[in-house]
Amino acid sequence: MNDLITLSKLDLRVPRWDIDRLIPRHCPICNSEGNAEYVRPDGLVIRYCSKCGTFFVSPSPSEDLLKEFYKKYFVLHFGRGANFDKKSAKDYSLLNPQSDLRIRELLSIMNPEQRSVLDVGCGTGITLFGLRKLGARVEGIDLDTDAVNFVNNELAIKCNYGSVADLEGEFDIIILFDFIEHPLDPLPTLIKCKRMLRPNGLILIWTPNSTFAHIDNEPILFRVDLEHMQYLSLKTCNYLADLLDLDIVHLESIGYPSLDGITQCDSKQEKINIIKNIVVHTPVIGAMSKFLYQIANQNANSLDERLGRYHLFCILQNKSLE
Ligand SMILES: [Zn+2]
Repeated sequence: MNDLITLSKLDLRVPRWDIDRLIPRHCPICNSEGNAEYVRPDGLVIRYCSKCGTFFVSPSPSEDLLKEFYKKYFVLHFGRGANFDKKSAKDYSLLNPQSDLRIRELLSIMNPEQRSVLDVGCGTGITLFGLRKLGARVEGIDLDTDAVNFVNNELAIKCNYGSVADLEGEFDIIILFDFIEHPLDPLPTLIKCKRMLRPNGLILIWTPNSTFAHIDNEPILFRVDLEHMQYLSLKTCNYLADLLDLDIVHLESIGYPSLDGITQCDSKQEKINIIKNIVVHTPVIGAMSKFLYQIANQNANSLDERLGRYHLFCILQNKSLE
């Protein structure tokens, strides 16, 4: 057995999991045992499944423990409580939906006008708001009660509380942005999404990308957002497409980490020190160091958003009826 690599802290928000409530688990995509490789800064072990190319946390927090964690996720974890007011709803209306490259990519495949859209883990509803602006019929679902109330009441968009298992409906477009890395058991959600998909319908997945973890010194994605329970790779996307009998119509490594957790420190110098440390220890590509400094200076607008490789962006399409 290989020695485990202990990863150093980067995200200032380190969850303190109750170790009495940790449970062993197999690969959440293909049920293999996997090999233990890393210890995250929160003490949880990451295993790698070579069969489907997924990294996953095991043992993991229990389902109940995670449910408690997500009830106030946006308020506690992102400090976004102040966003849940009418001012945000007004701000949304000023945004151009096409400023989101994922929406532009969707538009290149399907016009969302008059299409039914489900956003799973919709959070504060910004993607739904944009798609409604483009003429789609939109609906969301989330586990954060404040987010659900905000989307229903302030954005006037139907938003369900709960999990996809309890949902019924047919959709042309199902959105899973920053979702698939969170649940302990994401596969039933994916299977249910496929079942709710109309012919030619699309599933859009945006998630942290573990494809390059083995060539990174200390992979950033295993050191930030420590509530993540699994990390998909390009290989996982191919595995899932086969498993769900869907076509891959878009697959891309793209973008930079948001680094929410490291940008919370008060002093700008402290931020820059942390960022310098990342740049030194991570064989990043292209404009990464420039970008990180832009973050430190709170001016990340001029970055080329197609660079980077922090996320996976995968669009799966249902077969037509013919
Ligand atoms: Zn697997």
